[in-house]
Amino acid sequence: METNQLLELSEQFESPLYVYDAEKIQSQYHRLEKAFSKVNSLRINYAVKALSNISILKLLKQLGSGLDTVSIQEVQLGLMADYPPEKIIYTPNGVSMEEIEEVAALGVQINIDNLSILEQFGAKHPTTPVCIRINPHVMAGGNSNISVGHIDSKFGISIHQMPHLLRIVENTGMHINGIHMHTGSDILDIEVFLYAAEILFDTAMHFKELEFLDFGSGFKVPYKKDDIETDVEELGKKLTKRFTKFCSEYGSELTLCFEPGKFLVSQSGYFLSKVNVVKQTTSTVFAGIDSGFNHLIRPMLYGSYHHIENISNQKGKERFYSVVGYICETDTFAGNRRIAEITEGDILCFRNAGAYCFSMASNYNSRTRPAEVLWYEGKGHLIRERETFDDIIRKQVIMDFNSTPVAV
Ligand SMILES: *Cc1c(COP(=O)(O)O)cnc(C)c1O
Repeated sequence: METNQLLELSEQFESPLYVYDAEKIQSQYHRLEKAFSKVNSLRINYAVKALSNISILKLLKQLGSGLDTVSIQEVQLGLMADYPPEKIIYTPNGVSMEEIEEVAALGVQINIDNLSILEQFGAKHPTTPVCIRINPHVMAGGNSNISVGHIDSKFGISIHQMPHLLRIVENTGMHINGIHMHTGSDILDIEVFLYAAEILFDTAMHFKELEFLDFGSGFKVPYKKDDIETDVEELGKKLTKRFTKFCSEYGSELTLCFEPGKFLVSQSGYFLSKVNVVKQTTSTVFAGIDSGFNHLIRPMLYGSYHHIENISNQKGKERFYSVVGYICETDTFAGNRRIAEITEGDILCFRNAGAYCFSMASNYNSRTRPAEVLWYEGKGHLIRERETFDDIIRKQVIMDFNSTPVAV
């Protein structure tokens, strides 16, 4: 997308605003598909939690994607976007048996990540095919909050519990049709990934009726110019070779699955926000914008980097700024950042605002959440209206203390 188009959208739909470039989502999807084009059967299940707008789900469905979901509500969004239940996989962690049963009844692929639920579910529903999420105990990922494969992680069934797992499967007679792992985000070392894959292959050999192997996600995307990213082409070459060899050893053609979130949508997203105030202090210059961590929490939550440009003054001389939000506690998007000279009223554009940005937004400080626009075939389409004050109070039940008789 061009900077001027973003500027025009900020005028048309006002700020703060999320904009997603459909073309970028499409090209990322095709890039992954191409990297694994030599695999006989490939399934890409988009991780809904990254960006869950129904129009985005429909866009991905057009490309042939399936969905990876973590809650029954995400499953419902997928069904509303016309995904057939068999193209949805449900990978919850720590949810109730009731929710898992409800999702299974919809015909969605269940992925279970603990022995207690596996045993209960298998005993009650021995004919429902189940995928098993293992924890290969491989340390990977960008930081400890998003790294989920290590020994202390709450995710997955430890590979050291295989004997117990196999006993449950045998006792219940349940049908295991897939093995899954998701080791975390921001995987840079392909060898580490392939090492974890070996553990998945070893585990898979214990099960005779598998239909798919799911390698999760963790593709790192670039956040700035010349930033490192997962080399999916290289991974495609190496994993395809190894996977094909495994399938011939296993004796059947399995489907290879991935479930990327960030990889598909991060770079498609732009967050546009207006500068309310430029405040010079003794130590820095603050640019205070009409937003805060209620709309984009990643920098405050886990120190993520978002490139910021002043699109109202593209050729301006650069100065150093701290870009801060309006939330009444520390609310910093970027410190000591070189940005083209900012005047109050300018529009700042945040990059990589597609994944885990709107989907993590809240109404904190009783603020409304922004609108979302999809840039599709040269035009901006509103895919979520800006919230209003009515949305903030919609579910409140307001007590009337005067009408309640007080017991004396
Ligand atoms: C969050 C999540 C993903 C997506 O991870 P990204 O880093 O956004 O690609 C995939 N699978 C599972 C099980 C997840 O929880």
